Amino acid sequence: MPEGESERTIAECFDCGSAYAAKKWPDGTIQPIGTRNGCQCGSTEFQTVGKASATVLREGQSD
Ligand SMILES: [Zn+2]
Repeated sequence: MPEGESERTIAECFDCGSAYAAKKWPDGTIQPIGTRNGCQCGSTEFQTVGKASATVLREGQSD
């Protein structure tokens, strides 16, 4: 499976706020690494978290 199709990011659980290393796919899917069953709290909804850097990842927000 070729790399480069997804980008590494940080995903934060919508429910409890736990952060995980994750992959973000071109279609917008966010897949936390090592947590196939979702968050430890049981949630499977995640949002990407912008690291504290000059790059602000706000493109793609739908609202
Ligand atoms: Zn959670």
